Amino acid sequence: MFPVKGQMLSLQGPREALKRVIFGPGTYMVPREDGLIVVGAISERDAGFAEGLTPDGQKQLQRGITALLPVATSWPPMERWWGFRPCTPDEGPLLGPGPLPGLWLACGHHRNGVLLAAMTAELTASSVLGVPLSPENDALLNSFHWSRF
Ligand SMILES: Cc1cc2nc3c(=O)[nH]c(=O)nc-3n(C[C@H](O)[C@H](O)[C@H](O)COP(=O)(O)OP(=O)(O)OC[C@H]3O[C@@H](n4cnc5c(N)ncnc54)[C@H](O)[C@@H]3O)c2cc1C
Repeated sequence: MFPVKGQMLSLQGPREALKRVIFGPGTYMVPREDGLIVVGAISERDAGFAEGLTPDGQKQLQRGITALLPVATSWPPMERWWGFRPCTPDEGPLLGPGPLPGLWLACGHHRNGVLLAAMTAELTASSVLGVPLSPENDALLNSFHWSRF
């Protein structure tokens, strides 16, 4: 696994300025109830484990806002943050029994770890407890086995 760094920021828009998530090339905007808009997220494959925000990364987000919703460039920025996405060579997670007895893997979710948390938990719990899976879930678990690498 290797890190894919990401940076994000939030803006304070007028309440209900944006009623749904909007996506554009390389940028998305997620509205919260109080008008806060979360703007994400750049992907820096060459940054390695270099911590912190960068002016280039923040400019890239700013360009995304200008392209996606020009009016939002006048809304005040609230917070900026960054993190490392745990990535595998095919960008899919590693799930299920690991290479050592008693070791299970649930990692490498790259940019979808939050989205996939419920499914990962279900597959991992069933796998650890030895509960039989449906054929579809069994196929899913097999396709994310570590041995594909
Ligand atoms: C900017 C950004 C935006 C994102 N947006 C989304 C999104 O919109 N939707 C989505 O689904 N996902 C998103 N993700 C991805 C999501 O955050 C990850 O896929 C998810 O956090 C991976 O979960 P994890 O538990 O596998 O790894 P992590 O969240 O990285 O957790 C690993 C944990 O292990 C700890 N740890 C590391 N080494 C050790 C050690 N040696 N001993 C003990 N503890 C250790 C770390 O401190 C950390 O708490 C985003 C990521 C970033 C960076």
